[in-house]
Amino acid sequence: MKTFYSTAHLAHAPTLEFEMGRMGPAVEVPERVERVRAEIEARKLGPIHEPREFGNEPLLRIHNPDFVGFLTTAHAQWTKRYGEREAADAYPSVWPARGLRERRHGDIESQLGSYAFDTATPITKGTWAASHAAANAALSAAQAIREGERASFSLARPPGHHASADVFGGYCYLNNVAIAAQWLADAGMRPAILDVDYHHGNGTQAIFYRRDDVFFASVHADPAFAYPHFLGFADELGEGNGEGFNLNLPLPRGTDWGGYSLALATALDAIAAFRPDVLLVSLGLDTYEHDPICRFRITTEDYLRIGARIATLGKPTLFIFEGGYHIEALGRNTANVLEGFVGG
Ligand SMILES: [Zn+2]
Repeated sequence: MKTFYSTAHLAHAPTLEFEMGRMGPAVEVPERVERVRAEIEARKLGPIHEPREFGNEPLLRIHNPDFVGFLTTAHAQWTKRYGEREAADAYPSVWPARGLRERRHGDIESQLGSYAFDTATPITKGTWAASHAAANAALSAAQAIREGERASFSLARPPGHHASADVFGGYCYLNNVAIAAQWLADAGMRPAILDVDYHHGNGTQAIFYRRDDVFFASVHADPAFAYPHFLGFADELGEGNGEGFNLNLPLPRGTDWGGYSLALATALDAIAAFRPDVLLVSLGLDTYEHDPICRFRITTEDYLRIGARIATLGKPTLFIFEGGYHIEALGRNTANVLEGFVGG
């Protein structure tokens, strides 16, 4: 298992977010990745490599150029408008809801409202640098698969699965798994994506919703009660050419291994029927029983089983780090999935 990691993620360190009815300390923080790196080293789960630079081209295969331009300049625009302050992260505060006009080229407030879908995802001074580096890590891990590795792991942040072609949110700015899947598809491979994060991968779904060349399956908390609230229901099957290539398996509050493993088996069966030649896993660990913002009951031991189950597909597999907010257990849980896969 080759892991791709760089310190570039440290540049993105939000301090506050507004979510779940309160303004509080950010949970998507640099220590997450550092804990996982330390665990991989301690358990000797394979070499850790520095990602290479892929430039903007692979990002633009997925993301709208104006959106990428916005991400690169948003924090500078915000600072120009409001000055350098202690809490200088950029947050949207107004949205073009029904009856209002979207203004993607307006002032910074209207740009933030036009491109963001929540208040949990601040743009910091280092957001673009870290996001771009996270995409490079995902692409480097994809390249390792392309060159014949059985498994690779992109250990980077910010995560990506909530970001769509031109919308950011859910702590995500660039959709790393979609960028890697597209890069592999462009290299002639047939990718399937399995999203095991607690939250539905609404961005990934939106990106591939009308396509039949990338299969997307997601096992997640029912959006009837859980974030992202507006997407991830079982009746979303894909549209046009993409009909039948999107599978959502929403699960109730309190789901444990019993219910989870059945849904995972259903997702893996559907992926096998698609006959992919590469699997990408959006690896979220926020399904953990003690995660501070989530409500499933997956245990540390269960993560070994999740890895082993994924291995039964027998496909080259690229794991991409997504959510997971229980700092103490995050390293162990992540490494268990990888170890379960390698031993499975
Ligand atoms: Zn999540």
